[in-house]
Amino acid sequence: MTARVLVVDDIPTNVKLLEARLTAEYFEVHCAYSGAEALDMCAKIHFDIILLDVMMPEMNGFEVCRRLKSNPETHHIPVVMITALDQPSDRIEGLEAGADDFLTKPPDDMQLLARVKSLVRLKMLTDELRARALTGRQIAAEHAEQAIASIRVDGGRVLVIDEDPASVERLQNILSKEHKLQIVADPTSVALQVADEGYEVALVSTGLKSFDPLRVCSQLRTLEQTRTMPIILIADEVDRPKVLRGLDLGVNDFIMRPLEKHELSARVRTQIRRQRYANELRESVNSTMAMAVVDELTGLYNRRYFDRHLAIMLEKATSQERSLGMMMLDIDHFKRINDTHGHDAGDIILKEFARRMQRNIRGVDLACRYGGEEFVVLMPDTDHQQAHAIAERIRDAVADKSFVVGNELHVHVTVSVGVAMNHDETDTPEALSKRADIALYRAKHSGRNRVIFDAA
Ligand code: GH3
Ligand code: MG
Ligand code: MG
Repeated sequence: MTARVLVVDDIPTNVKLLEARLTAEYFEVHCAYSGAEALDMCAKIHFDIILLDVMMPEMNGFEVCRRLKSNPETHHIPVVMITALDQPSDRIEGLEAGADDFLTKPPDDMQLLARVKSLVRLKMLTDELRARALTGRQIAAEHAEQAIASIRVDGGRVLVIDEDPASVERLQNILSKEHKLQIVADPTSVALQVADEGYEVALVSTGLKSFDPLRVCSQLRTLEQTRTMPIILIADEVDRPKVLRGLDLGVNDFIMRPLEKHELSARVRTQIRRQRYANELRESVNSTMAMAVVDELTGLYNRRYFDRHLAIMLEKATSQERSLGMMMLDIDHFKRINDTHGHDAGDIILKEFARRMQRNIRGVDLACRYGGEEFVVLMPDTDHQQAHAIAERIRDAVADKSFVVGNELHVHVTVSVGVAMNHDETDTPEALSKRADIALYRAKHSGRNRVIFDAA
């Protein structure tokens, strides 16, 4: 494991001591000799962890820590406070300042390395999860926008509650080309008539003689099926007070007679649109995010997510000069497996394959179903040898034990794997994928059930 460490202490010998120990462990160590200098460096360099002396003139370690933790650019960087005495009051103040851990001076080697390593590991994981959440949110937002753009506003199911034939005819003339109207002339039974009909908007005339129109509105508001259905009051000038009461009761809109054709269509359309958006939102709040980024069968991320996130991970690896491994996996002769044992058996094998694959990678690795029986895994901070070992481990975990389908069926499955590493800053997501893909192709053509490394 390698990481970029900032050591902050006003006493040069203390700095040198920590620098020497950490450098010996292959950490990249930077040094600062005051709080101000430390904050300055943090603004320019991305550190993975900060070792911070408490006692410093001018700005002490607590203050530095508070500033780091209150800045969104740096608040996720773990801070280890180095206290001269193991004083509980120092720890409390450190915790309040947001410190992640403590070491007492002079830190003992084993403690120092254990703390640093565990916090660095944690940071890598949280960095990756933060980046993943962001990609997911972006995709979900686009998905929602698309859903909204695809919502139409015609073909609405409109409930008309009006007992005046002339008025009903006028409404029909204006609206029935665009929407489906259901006329209710006897509002006493409205509760029965609207149940389960899926109306999207109700037009209620204030001119009802045999029934109080506002009572109709409040009934619609209390019925489970129509609670959220928009209501538009259609009112005569003399009924203005009723309209006001209606708005208090939760009526969404009103139109005064004489009805103007365009106004009526527009108002109805607006309410239908609002209703459909609200439904879409309700339905999608829980599922959009998952649907947009997760493959249903295996629960792995899907290709759309992968394509997006690859660019982010590659850019991060390149800018921090870290290695990134990519492996492409394709189950061997999967068509034959399907043909022999059926598509459902194929699905079960895909799921189990995904499980075995996931068991053999780390939490920071990103595994996706690329399509059909093709998978891809991105491995941050993984060098050539490690990537090879992981790919070999997965290949073995698949070929080693047959896949059990149902009670009886045992299917021998193998997988071919192509692995590629990131190059210099000229590398692109497409080029990296291409190299992994070519390696996979070679694995297929040299006999399957094997791992081939990109030769480039
Ligand atoms: P190779 O060793 O060259 O990869 O051969 P192959 O048969 O695995 O490759 P090919 O691409 O010809 O066939 C892939 C098959 O995977 C065809 C397709 O029907 C099947 N498949 C794709 N998606 C699914 C799925 O979701 N479920 C099931 N059961 N089968 C799938
Ligand atoms: Mg294939
Ligand atoms: Mg295949």
